[in-house]
Amino acid sequence: MKFLRVSLHILIILLLTILTQVGGLAYLLYLWLKRRFDFTGLKKKAINFGLFAAIYGILSFIILPILASTLYNRKPLPLMNNTLKPLRAYTFLMNRHYVHEDLYKVLLFESEAMQKEFPETVTYYLDACFPLGAKFPLLPHWSHNDGRKVDLAFYYSDSTTKLYKKGSPSWLGYGVCESPTSKEENMPEFCAQKGYFQYSFLEKIIPQYKKGNYIFDKTRTKTLIQKLTASSKIKKIFIEPHLKSRMKLTNSKIRFHGCHAVRHDDHIHIQL
Ligand SMILES: [Zn+2]
Repeated sequence: MKFLRVSLHILIILLLTILTQVGGLAYLLYLWLKRRFDFTGLKKKAINFGLFAAIYGILSFIILPILASTLYNRKPLPLMNNTLKPLRAYTFLMNRHYVHEDLYKVLLFESEAMQKEFPETVTYYLDACFPLGAKFPLLPHWSHNDGRKVDLAFYYSDSTTKLYKKGSPSWLGYGVCESPTSKEENMPEFCAQKGYFQYSFLEKIIPQYKKGNYIFDKTRTKTLIQKLTASSKIKKIFIEPHLKSRMKLTNSKIRFHGCHAVRHDDHIHIQL
């Protein structure tokens, strides 16, 4: 019985570390405090959760930003900014929104420029990197391991009004794809034929029911990519080849990521 309990604790620590970087440490501290101070009473479960949440909150929102900045020149992307926001709360609740200061500056500057050119436009970020570690991958993105990469959501218009629409058709931010038409280059099909089953995996498991309400905003998305490629700090951008052609983008910084990755017609990947 004790063996099972210890195994379960180890599994939780590993899982929380993989998902949030400091969740495993928070859980260890929580177990230690719980042993030291015997929390008993009717609302034991609520107290336990509150204790873990408090430790996790202090580590994530007070200690990590200081360590990330001092050790790795990384900053958490803004949470309340009018031009640059997280698409989903899980991104910052799980510490997945840290980037190198150079990338932070470019993103903020270009999202402000986008709003000046297209009023009301909000640029949404998805997964970036963890705050600590030179090679600590932010799974499932193996390359997001050094603060120099971030994913951004596409811009959309409303399918009925044809006006700019905030948000995204995907609850996760990924997996609702702007697929190639029959006349466009079809990398998802090519990669599937080569046996890379993971390439379109997310599209198969993410609910698609909101897709009909959103239209991919070619003009805004193209403008953002052009602004980013014009920045000397940005070295590479990944989107699917059919979208690169559709938006008539020619900059050599825009590359194909390869079949071993996942498809990039649901988001834009940017790196320093
Ligand atoms: Zn990425």
